[in-house]
Amino acid sequence: MSNYVIGIDLGGTNIKSAIFNMNFHIVHERSDPTGAANGPAHVLNRIQEIVQEMLLLEGIDQSSIKCMGMGIPGLLDPEEGLSIFSPNFPGWENIHVLNAMKEHFEFPVFIDNDVRVNMYGEWQFGAGMGYQNLVLITLGTGLGSGIVNDGKVIYGTTSSAGEIGHMNMFREGRPCRCGSSGCLGRYVSAVGMVRTFTEKLEQGRSSIITQWVGDDRTAITAQMISEAYDLEDALAVEVMRETGEILGFGLANVINLLNPEVVIVGGGMSAAGDRLLETVRDTVNKHALALSSSVCKIVQATLGRQAGMIGAAAYANNKMSV
Ligand SMILES: [Zn+2]
Repeated sequence: MSNYVIGIDLGGTNIKSAIFNMNFHIVHERSDPTGAANGPAHVLNRIQEIVQEMLLLEGIDQSSIKCMGMGIPGLLDPEEGLSIFSPNFPGWENIHVLNAMKEHFEFPVFIDNDVRVNMYGEWQFGAGMGYQNLVLITLGTGLGSGIVNDGKVIYGTTSSAGEIGHMNMFREGRPCRCGSSGCLGRYVSAVGMVRTFTEKLEQGRSSIITQWVGDDRTAITAQMISEAYDLEDALAVEVMRETGEILGFGLANVINLLNPEVVIVGGGMSAAGDRLLETVRDTVNKHALALSSSVCKIVQATLGRQAGMIGAAAYANNKMSV
C-alpha cells in the first residue's frame, strides 16, 4: 500500500524536500544547502541522503512510497531522466539523474524542469486551479515559464518549450548567457531589474537606496527597490515601472500567441506584487489583442516556496496514473 509521495525542488541555493500524504499534506519538510559548486555527484548524493533521513525520522519504509518527483533547473529530458544542461549548476551536462536515484530507491522517480513543476503545483493546488489555459512565469534570478494549453502541458520537441526568458525584446540589448542578446530575462528578472537600477545610478541619478548600501552597489536587491518604492523614491518608482512595461510587452506576445485565461507570476521577485503587476496589466491591456487580453487575468502565485515541492510530488503522482 502506497501512502506517500516525495517532492524535491532543486534550486541554486537550496534543496527543498518534502514527504506528502496522498492528500498532498506535508508530513515532513526540510531545506538544505545545495552546494552546487561541489558538482552533480555531490548534489545527487545529498538528495539521496536527505530522502533516506526523512524516511528514517518518520519511520516510513520505502515500500510505502508511491513515487518521487524532482524539479531541476535547466534543460532536461524528462523521459530519459537526463539533465542536459543547467546554467547555474557547474558540471551538469548530460547527468543521468534517474540512474543515480535508482541505485538507492525502489520506488519510481520522475524529473522535470523546475519551472514546470512549479506550474504543476499552482495548476493543481494554487492560483491555476480549474484553468485549462494558463501560463506560469517565475521571476527570480532568471525568468522561466510553464504552459498549459487546452488542458495539456506543453513540452515541445526537446522539452524546452516555454523559455520566454530568451524572447528577444531588443535587437541590440544586454548580452545573455544563451549566446543571444536583448533577452526578456535580462531585464525583468530580479538581476535584470537591479541592473537597470544600478545603470541609472551610474548615470548620476540618486536614490534613498544609496544611503542603505553606501558604496557597495552590488548589495542592491530587488527587495530594496520594492522598499524604496513604498517610500516613494523616484528612481525606484521609475525602475519598477520600466521593468513592468518590458514584462508587459513580453507577456502581450505570450498572450497573443497562447490565448491563456490566466498568467500566474511566481518566483522570488513576484513579492513586488502590484507594484510591478499594475504596470504589467496596463501594458498588456494597451498592446495585446483586445479579445485575448480581455479574458486574461494576471495574478500572483499563491503557493510561495512550497510550489516546487508540491508540484514535483503532484507531477510524479500524475505520471503514475498515465
Ligand atoms: Zn537569452
